[in-house]
Amino acid sequence: MKKNIAGLMLLVALSFAHVASAAVKVITTTEDLAAIVKEIGGDRVSVEALARGYQDPHFVEAKPSFILKLHSADLLVLVGRELEVAWLPPLITQSRNTKIQPAGMGYLDASLTARILDIPTGQITRAMGDVHPQGNPHYWLEPGNGRRVAQAVQQKLTALSAADAAYFSQRYADFDRRLTEAEKRWRAMIAPYKGLKIVTYHRSWPNFADAFGLDVIGYVEPKPGIPPSPAHTLALIEQMKRQNIKIILVEPYFDLKTPNAIARDTGAQVLVMPPSVGGVKEVTNYFQLFDYDLNLLVSAIKQSGA
Ligand SMILES: [Zn+2]
Repeated sequence: MKKNIAGLMLLVALSFAHVASAAVKVITTTEDLAAIVKEIGGDRVSVEALARGYQDPHFVEAKPSFILKLHSADLLVLVGRELEVAWLPPLITQSRNTKIQPAGMGYLDASLTARILDIPTGQITRAMGDVHPQGNPHYWLEPGNGRRVAQAVQQKLTALSAADAAYFSQRYADFDRRLTEAEKRWRAMIAPYKGLKIVTYHRSWPNFADAFGLDVIGYVEPKPGIPPSPAHTLALIEQMKRQNIKIILVEPYFDLKTPNAIARDTGAQVLVMPPSVGGVKEVTNYFQLFDYDLNLLVSAIKQSGA
C-alpha cells in the first residue's frame, strides 16, 4: 500500500514536471519567423505560422482559425514595420488573449532589433504609394537580420520559460555558427557578380541586395503596392535598355503579364524568386531560402550572360 502511494506521488510529481516543461506555444505571422523560432526553440516550443510563404504577406486573408490559434498562444512573433498592418491587428484584438496584446509578455515585434533599410525621411504623402513609414519590412532576407531575430527570439523564449534557458542558448549558438558558415558559402557564390544591376517587381529585396552586393535600379511597380502603369513600364523599359539590365526578379504572388512584356522588349529574363520560407516546397527552413534563391539567381545570371 505504502509503495502504491509512493508510486502515485511519483506519478503526480512527474506530471507536474511535465506541465512545467510543456512546450511554449508560438504563433508567427510568416513562415520565415516560424523557421527561426524552430531553430532556437527546438522541441521546447510548438510553432505555427499564419501566412503561407507563397502568399503576399501584406495581404493575407484572415481566417477564423487564425483567431483560435492566437487565442491559445503563449507568444506571437510578427515581422512588424507595418507588414501585417492590413490584417493582423483585428485578429490580435479578437483573440482575447492578453498575453499576445502589443503590451503583453507574449508579443515580439521581430523588427525591433533588425537592421532596417528605406526609412523615409521627410513627410510621407499618399502620392508615395503604400510606403512603409517605419522602413522596409522585408528585412529577413538578410542573413545578419536572421541572426538578430534569432537572438531576440532566444531572449523572449528564455523570459517565458526560464528553465530552458541553457537549451535555448545552446541552440542559438549552434544556429549562429551554422549561419556564419553558410554566409561564407553564399557570399562566395555571388561574389563574381558583385554590383550586378537588376530590376525587381516589389521593393522586397533591399536587404538581400545589400547583403549580396546587387544593385536594384528599378521596380515594376511604379510605387510600392501600386500596380504597373503603362507610362512607368515604358520608362522602365527604356532605363533597362540603357543600362543593359537582364534580370527581373518577381515575387511568386504577382501577375507575370507586365514582367513578361518587359522581358520581351528588353531581352531580360523573368525570375520568379520566393522571398520566404514555404514560397516553394523545396524551401522549408531559413538556410534553404538563401541556398535556393542564390542558386536560382546565379544560374539565371550565367544563362543571360549578364
Ligand atoms: Zn513590401
